[in-house]
Amino acid sequence: MEESRLNAMKRSFSILEDRKKRLFRDDYECINELSDRVKSIRKYSISNLEELIKKAEKRFTENDIEVIFAESADKALDEIYKIVKDEPIIGKSKSNTVNEIGLSTFLMNKGIELVETDLGDRIIQLDEETKGPSHPIGPAAHLNIKEIARIASQKFGEFIAPEARAILDALKNDVTKRLSKCNVGITGANSIAAEDGSLIMVHNEGNINIVSMKEIHIVVAGIDKLVRSVEDAISVVKLETIFATGKKVPAYMNVISSPSKTADIEQILLKGMYGPKRVILILLDNGRREALKEYDECLLCIGCGSCIVSCPVYNVTGYEFGYRGYLGGRGITFSRFITDNQTCFDSGLFQCTECGLCTLECPVNIKTNEIIERLRRESVEKGKYPKKHLETAERIKEKGSPFED
Ligand code: SF4
Ligand code: SF4
Repeated sequence: MEESRLNAMKRSFSILEDRKKRLFRDDYECINELSDRVKSIRKYSISNLEELIKKAEKRFTENDIEVIFAESADKALDEIYKIVKDEPIIGKSKSNTVNEIGLSTFLMNKGIELVETDLGDRIIQLDEETKGPSHPIGPAAHLNIKEIARIASQKFGEFIAPEARAILDALKNDVTKRLSKCNVGITGANSIAAEDGSLIMVHNEGNINIVSMKEIHIVVAGIDKLVRSVEDAISVVKLETIFATGKKVPAYMNVISSPSKTADIEQILLKGMYGPKRVILILLDNGRREALKEYDECLLCIGCGSCIVSCPVYNVTGYEFGYRGYLGGRGITFSRFITDNQTCFDSGLFQCTECGLCTLECPVNIKTNEIIERLRRESVEKGKYPKKHLETAERIKEKGSPFED
């Protein structure tokens, strides 16, 4: 990432950190208690994942939400395409899981436009130079206001002043026009309550309220998002909000447990009152069960992004240290399971300094630095390591010094 963009990102991170510090100062005990509760909720989930998957399938079906299990990204894409193949345009809200399967490019190649509705995501969708989000909740954190105004002006072919409200209005008007033509909305889910058959989504902009009210609502989420109950799910998303934004609660928490329906006319059940006639949950494995075997800790993640804010490597490289919106060390470790060894290596496996700051900042204590160390060992055994490291190691063995003469 360019220096000016890194500087904008660091400024944005520092505002976020100040807000978090103030919140922690005022509510330390409550946050600590919530953090302990969420750790045990997440540990229960990954220890009982198969049981939760079965329960979710049963309960969502009873609630009239269609469940499709996708063992791979390709399967998820095929299933989505079967539903949307006749649609020219689809609305989408922020979702790392949707980015993970590469839906935007896939649909574009099929001639279907996918419109990002989150303001930050829409900005980076319009910017040809940006390779992805720089923070899970603030995707355009690396762009300053002048750059955003330039991107918007180029896109709309007219001057947009470098003023926050003017930019917001221009982008909102454009997205709203596009959304009015959509019959299908795609979102992720921040947490899934298996025993209740409920999907929990958090947002600040209100965009999920619009995207999830189209005739068909497709939800793409990893099996790692499953927890037992709505109460557990709300605890998870509350902790995620605190660590991601420094705010105690998000503006909106949507709990979706069925398509829109009414039985107000002689108890005759009709679907699609104001909201969707169909809600379809695509539950994605895509390597998560593989991670569960030896690296189950990776699946504890609640996606708050707290680990990247203090990461020294992320702060000098940006989103290039990570994989497709899964940023920093956590993203690198996860990429090993959702893709392959080579992608994990290319995402920056050997760039990490092993400082452990990510572990200290993680609300659920994922030891990302230790996972990276284990993955590196495996990578070296497979012959995949930076050759310079081998030369240095040999110099130390031969001359007792890492330095060249
Ligand atoms: S251990 Fe690695 S991934 Fe974690 S903060 Fe340090 S450099 Fe970043
Ligand atoms: S690894 Fe921890 S700090 Fe990083 S995104 Fe996941 S839960 Fe948040």
